[in-house]
Amino acid sequence: MPELFRNYINGEWVESGAVFENRNPARTDEVVGLFARGAAGDMVCAAAAAEAAFPSWAAMNPPARGAYLYRAADILEKRFEQIAAEMTREEGKTLPESKGEVRRSINIFRYFAGEGSRLAGLQTPSERERVHTFSIRKPLGVAGLITPWNFPIAIPAWKIAPALVCGNTVVLKPASAAPLCAWRMVEALVEAGIPKGVVNFVAGPGGELGSALLSAPPLKAVSFTGSCAIGNWLHQEASKRRIRIQLEMGGKNPAIILSDADLNTAVETTVNGAFFATGQRCTATSRAIVEEGIYDRFVEALVERTRRLKVGDGLQPGIDVGPAIDEAQLETVLRYIETGKREGARLAQGGRRLTEGSYAGGYFVEPTIFTDVTEEMTIAREEIFGPVLSVMRARDYEDAVRMANDTPFGLSASIQTSNISRAFDYIYRAETGLVMVNLPSAGIEYQVPFGGTKDSSFGPKEQGPAALEFYTDYKTVYLKY
Ligand code: NAP
Repeated sequence: MPELFRNYINGEWVESGAVFENRNPARTDEVVGLFARGAAGDMVCAAAAAEAAFPSWAAMNPPARGAYLYRAADILEKRFEQIAAEMTREEGKTLPESKGEVRRSINIFRYFAGEGSRLAGLQTPSERERVHTFSIRKPLGVAGLITPWNFPIAIPAWKIAPALVCGNTVVLKPASAAPLCAWRMVEALVEAGIPKGVVNFVAGPGGELGSALLSAPPLKAVSFTGSCAIGNWLHQEASKRRIRIQLEMGGKNPAIILSDADLNTAVETTVNGAFFATGQRCTATSRAIVEEGIYDRFVEALVERTRRLKVGDGLQPGIDVGPAIDEAQLETVLRYIETGKREGARLAQGGRRLTEGSYAGGYFVEPTIFTDVTEEMTIAREEIFGPVLSVMRARDYEDAVRMANDTPFGLSASIQTSNISRAFDYIYRAETGLVMVNLPSAGIEYQVPFGGTKDSSFGPKEQGPAALEFYTDYKTVYLKY
């Protein structure tokens, strides 16, 4: 019988009657865990518990709040191997990728724990004699955190750690497809002694729980990462009650390859950006925009390198690309591949679901490259969220920049070039929140601001010092002495 993981509300691990399964996408006969299926009433209780816990948590000095995060980080560190393996089993990414994510989450906890000793406000001169002006940061209250399945611990970590250290209390709603790693993170906080009600965890169906959370009177802020459709709905609901909101959503991230790029680097970074983590990263490269002069050589080397990628169960050594998260995502990917073929793109590599032998029990698809993709094609415009790359031809640098920016999304962009002036020119002209030079479009660090522009994001950035802007308000003091 698989283990049952309960919700955590008001300092108690609670069942909700019904349960749902968390299955391994590489071996669908394996149930990784059973989760209590939270309902609207659980969300209401969780928000009320967070509200009750807020005054004393907010009154605690910030370094003391940070100490809980340091302790939780140490607990996660002790379970590093276990959580990484669980991540691969619930999400499908390879074990080295999972280890990288758990490591990053521990670092995130420690970084924001240290923020407890800084949490700097502003000190600015007054225009008046013998008046001292300064602004201190105040927490907001109850923050709702809604997270997706593709980074099942890093995204919960980069929301909960700044929320807590700033003095907010939280209700975390993890993705139903991969809730275990977020549960482990909450378990670590509980073992670290986090006071009752400060952290609440409610797993279950997004629609029901999301509505209940958004209509819970104590809610003051919501931070969401996921699809544009849900993010836009949340934004409408939140604005009715002036709930502060932060949205991180989809992307259609370009990688510009200029003729002066180092060919090997361009190929490696593109393969990494497009196919690692099964292309299921919001920052994944989904369009390679290649300058005429290097196009044929690049495509040939890219296809050759991609053919050598090993697809399989991410727990096995040597695997580069794991499965899609679930059947629905697999179907979406296969549908886009069919659309690409129908609209006239040239299938240069992959394109099939893998079902033979050990692939039979999982949602595996070949890393897929379409070439001769034109700008109006669906696969050049819509987020696919799988291992599918569209290669497009640009006449020159200007044409490449125009194509790269011609999308409603604006999360990440990469440029491969040895020309420093071009690199800087692009840094300033890219309509994205992240620009990577001679690096993959994906692969971010926690100590710098993260987020996009245009339809990809809304509200203050996450991570780094920018995270404090979302989770605090300024209170300004004028003091005559
Ligand atoms: P999703 O379907 O939007 O789900 C995200 C979260 O929202 C899940 O916890 C989901 O719960 C919940 N949810 C569903 N319906 C809801 C509702 N009506 N109200 C409130 N919450 C609701 O997205 P996903 O499929 O998990 O993730 C893939 C998407 O996330 C992609 O578009 C990707 O680009 C984006 N993403 C963006 C970033 C970024 O930082 N920009 C990072 C990672 C992923 P259930 O799981 O129970 O449905």
